[in-house]
Amino acid sequence: MKNIVIFGAPGAGKGTQSDKMIEKYGLGHISTGDVLRSEIKAGTELGKTAKKYIDNGQLIPDELMIDILAGVYDSFGKEHKGVIFDGFPRTIPQAEALKKMLAERNHSVAAMIELYVPEDELMNRLVLRGKQSGRTDDNEETIKKRLDVYHTQTSPLIDWYKNEGIHHHIEGLGGIDEIFGKITEIIEKL
Ligand code: ATP
Ligand code: MG
Repeated sequence: MKNIVIFGAPGAGKGTQSDKMIEKYGLGHISTGDVLRSEIKAGTELGKTAKKYIDNGQLIPDELMIDILAGVYDSFGKEHKGVIFDGFPRTIPQAEALKKMLAERNHSVAAMIELYVPEDELMNRLVLRGKQSGRTDDNEETIKKRLDVYHTQTSPLIDWYKNEGIHHHIEGLGGIDEIFGKITEIIEKL
């Protein structure tokens, strides 16, 4: 079983590359952003709470995210080939909770793949996505806040995973298939 954390700033291409990994390797996919957006759509209590944070460019509180994670993970059953964590963890407490939740099941994270994209390109991509998808958090003001949150709360995870010995850095600029080629090189060595 190969659990993989796909990591990067908002707009780095985590969802795009996840789709390619799912197709090629038959992995499961846990996108916490997608989970939250479907809760919002369904109008649940969690969705209502999440919307306030998301539209403000902030992270949903760790306790809430950590609470829902194990249930989503277990929905893949005991014998899955591995899961891609996309958008989780986003804070050090989340990374610690993920490690603990997996250890309780005798599982682990095999690799953390960091997709690195420069800030101006992230902004361009997200503004364009906002126009096409209508995602309420993809507007310039909210994007600035999300990038700020990424730098202060999320990017310290790079050192955290280096310390775990499973961090891999790749350049996230270039064609989708070219980037995916670099990801497959990493996965095939695991
Ligand atoms: P990408 O474009 O690379 O997929 P993203 O940051 O644009 O990344 P999502 O991962 O879909 O988009 O997240 C959207 C929002 O959902 C975040 O800005 C945040 O408010 C909330 N969110 C998602 N995952 C988490 C998490 N693990 N902890 C806290 N909040 C989260
Ligand atoms: Mg995404």
